[in-house]
Amino acid sequence: MNRNGIHHVTAIAGSAQRNLDFYTRTLGLRLVKKTVNFDDPGAYHFYYGDEAGSPGTILTFFPWEHAAPGRAGAGELQETVFRVPQSATGYWMQRLVNHGVERATRFGETVLTFRDPDGLRLALVGLPGIEAEPAWSGVEVPVEHALRGFHSVSLMLDRTERTGAILTDVFGFREVATEGNTTRYAVEGTAIGGIVDLQAVGGFLPARLGRGSVHHLAFRAADDAAEMEMVRKLAADHGLHTTEQKNRDYFRSVYFREPGHVLFEIATDIPGFAVDEPTTDLGTALKLPAFLDGHREAIEAALPVLA
Ligand code: ZN
Repeated sequence: MNRNGIHHVTAIAGSAQRNLDFYTRTLGLRLVKKTVNFDDPGAYHFYYGDEAGSPGTILTFFPWEHAAPGRAGAGELQETVFRVPQSATGYWMQRLVNHGVERATRFGETVLTFRDPDGLRLALVGLPGIEAEPAWSGVEVPVEHALRGFHSVSLMLDRTERTGAILTDVFGFREVATEGNTTRYAVEGTAIGGIVDLQAVGGFLPARLGRGSVHHLAFRAADDAAEMEMVRKLAADHGLHTTEQKNRDYFRSVYFREPGHVLFEIATDIPGFAVDEPTTDLGTALKLPAFLDGHREAIEAALPVLA
């Protein structure tokens, strides 16, 4: 089994309740983990994904109620794209009519672009032949229309060459197509979360991080040894140094800023989201890392109340 590709995308939201409603109700994803930002325990960290929270399906948020809006520009992940069955595109066109949905064609595929309530850019790609793939049946979205993990992410960069070299040399991608100023990279054999598009936009204003923008993009490593090999290659071949490894409870991570200024993470597939609650109960209880559990009462009292 191929273990390369996208692990997760993490973005910044405003209202926690509004974020929860949009992703679990409107988009029908499963809340697979409700925890806090390990580096800022006054804020939630929500993870949405498929039933098990498989790598390549996970979109996560730091909801900060008073976060200022971000500004789109060079040096950021500008769009996160999910897979849906081709037969579901009519359903989604109608369902997302209040979210600015527009139909486009890219690389020969039908793409529906829209925004979440904080302005985060999202899209759905209709794919033939994926109707039978397992999918989470959300609160409102029937299983036949459900999202089936990431199709791709799109990065807007001043220049793309050095970032492309990292994708191919370190993360197992290869260049597969070009359309306009966008180059598509894909991992052979990874159907879910296996595509990264790099758009060259030399001269654009730099992006400003805020509500509705992406904080970082995480790539998969099967385990610690695979992660350390990627860290070694980044240093040896690209002169880039990562942070020390951080234990995120559900995966173990290192971080670095790639040459186009996007914050990249490498996250292990192990141990996964069932490490502290059974798969049937994922996302139902507030889970805290061991180093914060002694402060549970104070943390719960300070977090926004969720309906
Ligand atoms: Zn992350």
